Amino acid sequence: MNTAFFDLGIAEPLCRALIAEGYETPTPIQTQAIPVLLKGRDLLGLAQTGTGKTAAFALPLLQKLCTGHECRKPKSTRALILAPTRELAIQICDSIKTYGRFLHLRHAVFVGGVSQTPQVKALAGGLDILVATPGRLLDHLQQGNLRLDAVDTLVLDEADRMFDMGFINDLRKIVALLPKKRQSMLFSATMPSDVAALAQSVLHDPLRIEVTPQGRAADKIDQSVFFVPTAEKRALLAKLLGDRKFERVLVFTRTKHAANRVAEHLEKGGIASEAIHGNKSQNARQRALARFRSGEARVLVATDIAARGIDIDGVTHVINFELPNEPESYIHRIGRTARAGATGVAISFCDASENTYLRDIEKLTRTAIAVSGGVRQADQPPPSRGGAGRPSRSSKPSRPAFGKPRDHRNPRGQNQKVRGARAK
Ligand code: AMP
Repeated sequence: MNTAFFDLGIAEPLCRALIAEGYETPTPIQTQAIPVLLKGRDLLGLAQTGTGKTAAFALPLLQKLCTGHECRKPKSTRALILAPTRELAIQICDSIKTYGRFLHLRHAVFVGGVSQTPQVKALAGGLDILVATPGRLLDHLQQGNLRLDAVDTLVLDEADRMFDMGFINDLRKIVALLPKKRQSMLFSATMPSDVAALAQSVLHDPLRIEVTPQGRAADKIDQSVFFVPTAEKRALLAKLLGDRKFERVLVFTRTKHAANRVAEHLEKGGIASEAIHGNKSQNARQRALARFRSGEARVLVATDIAARGIDIDGVTHVINFELPNEPESYIHRIGRTARAGATGVAISFCDASENTYLRDIEKLTRTAIAVSGGVRQADQPPPSRGGAGRPSRSSKPSRPAFGKPRDHRNPRGQNQKVRGARAK
């Protein structure tokens, strides 16, 4: 018996599923949120992926649905979970399936980019839990495939991201169709004023819980940078990947085009790789993720949008093939490693045109990232926003910029944190 979760009030069939998953101790957000949500209160959670927030809301939700007296109704759902991206929605639904494996609840995920027909079929007998992206949910509502008057629990996940992606009007339309009497939860990594206003209108007397994993996650990640001209980045990547310690590697580029090129280059060099970005169909993205998760592909090359919120266990290394132009993205990227208590390694490749990006990142994280190879070249103008980071004509590739890489078998011991103070 998993007493830690049982003590929080979680019922036996759910605890059994958690044991099977290897969850022994609740994370801080779970400890704080679960008892309160079980009592039916609303929740405002300031937390991002990696904190265990999915289980924090999913476990009380599953428990409520299997102990409640309401029945499923055709074309209806009892609980609605909204997520900004398809990947996140699918991932939440997978977690629900995992935690609820000993329960008899019906759940489904509705996202765009795939056929509506199976989704309409799933609605025929009614659902207990529906996880959806706002756009596809609205399509179903407008076509009369679904009604929301039986929803008694609402979860809005990554609310700040919903704003960034322009979903706010869709969200407002959806919320207006929900019964007033319901339990609601809203999660967001940040709380700008527009998200706070949304929370105010959606939640009733919520408990506010804040967990800040960024500092802690970064502490467990060995971060370093190679100063390297763009023209030499692919060779450096291949060289690093020659070390089998780079077991499950997530590589980030700024553009879809660059993601494809890097993945193709690695494949040609005999390194099983996949690319994931917004130009790929939903099915192709899922296939790429599945191959990476199963270990068939050792490398996944991703753009920021496609990777946001993705939770893949056991990513040993994150490589920033191109530095992000938004420093916050760096934190999200490196947070894909060192998940659920593990340690991880994040390596960045910095061309002279990306020096300003690196400076912005170091300012935000208040950390001087240790230099693994090369020397910082004179600043060159950064590539245009979202640009492909083409090789700069004036960079000097005559001498290998990366020299001898650090020994990544024991990277922690060699990492010199120059300033050390971190954003809390
Ligand atoms: P999340 O923040 O919900 O995306 O969860 C991040 C990762 O932590 C996922 O891989 C979960 O399976 C894992 N996780 C969540 N809660 C726990 C727990 N109590 N013990 C161990 N792993 C957990």
